[in-house]
Amino acid sequence: MVDDVTLNVDTAEHSEHAMHLDPSARAARTERDGLLKALDFDNAPFTIAWELTRACAYACQHCRAEAQPRRDPQELDTQDALRLIDQLAGFGTHPILVLTGGDPLMRRDLFEIASHATERGLRVALTPTATALPTRSRMARAREAGVRRVAFSLDAYEPEVHDRFRGFPGSFARTRASMANAAAEGLPLQINTTVCAQNVDQLERMAAMLTEWGIVQWSVFFLVPTGRGRDLEMLDAAGHERVLGWLHELTRTAPYDIKATAAPQYRRIAMQSGGTMPGAGYHFGDGLARPPKGVNDGRGFMFVSHRGEVMPSGFLPLSAGSVRQEDPVTIYRRAPLFRALRDPANLKGKCGDCEFREVCGGSRARAYAVTGDVFAEDPSCPYTPTGDRREERPLTAAHREDGT
Ligand code: SF4
Repeated sequence: MVDDVTLNVDTAEHSEHAMHLDPSARAARTERDGLLKALDFDNAPFTIAWELTRACAYACQHCRAEAQPRRDPQELDTQDALRLIDQLAGFGTHPILVLTGGDPLMRRDLFEIASHATERGLRVALTPTATALPTRSRMARAREAGVRRVAFSLDAYEPEVHDRFRGFPGSFARTRASMANAAAEGLPLQINTTVCAQNVDQLERMAAMLTEWGIVQWSVFFLVPTGRGRDLEMLDAAGHERVLGWLHELTRTAPYDIKATAAPQYRRIAMQSGGTMPGAGYHFGDGLARPPKGVNDGRGFMFVSHRGEVMPSGFLPLSAGSVRQEDPVTIYRRAPLFRALRDPANLKGKCGDCEFREVCGGSRARAYAVTGDVFAEDPSCPYTPTGDRREERPLTAAHREDGT
């Protein structure tokens, strides 16, 4: 396991010793030091999602952003956006930057923003809405701007079920057409699916269908009842456990990687099955590797809203500060909310007692959405902790104390 890696890099000492190394050994050391830095979630997130706009032509039933047809006049403008990218590059770890929305293609400056992020060393992914906008020429511009992967949403095997979710007849066919345009430009594809009681019966047929679609990753989001998603029904705890167990089994045969989002107990299920965490540390040809240890809200992940508010995730609408007033790097590293979320000692209820709390910790977004307490136990997990601390994967003291 790499969850308990010791972060004990003395940079000055390393630099001095590195002078005496041959070039290949020096390169290997530089690469290893970079990996250790990227593993330190007190220092930098692995992934940043930036909601460029809330404007979107669709009105999806589960939309976290409660997207609207028009752009908000208070969105970050182009100059704000370019400055934000320069600040995010200050993490120094080349995090993944997901340009999301709403529909990011609703902004005319999208490709300027993506190009600038690529130039500053961020690894850019894009989540456009499958309208008429993701044409082949726009996908070509995305590729030229350095976008490494494009993710489209698909919530059902049956087109009419998907269209109902999206609030837009024909959106299933649009998704296929958009994927074809992206694939024709050589962009790797990801499918994002939001699971709730209304579409859980579609998953097995979707898994089979996606084997034919040439995707690199299926990212399965478990509904957090926030935004318009409040009107949908979450799976119960037993349902979460069953679907996550099934997904874990599927990793053995699926030709694509599988990621569970807003369901960190997936890591517990993987460990209990006696295996490693499937996908952890997985390296794709597009350079968007999977994190080598568990990411959770505010811990390896940060979200920037369309108005520049910095939050632990898009599903956890608590602002820790605004990029209009403060450097987002400082907010991530020092804001009390982020620091508290990275300390498992703050967890309550079963999650606080749980021997898996370091690798899991429960969905903080779901705990907040359901109970109003960001540190409450995650109601989607049926596990009863045993109190056996031998299962725990503690972080090091150095890792805990250096929150700056
Ligand atoms: S009780 Fe909480 S920390 Fe333990 S596995 Fe379940 S969600 Fe994770």
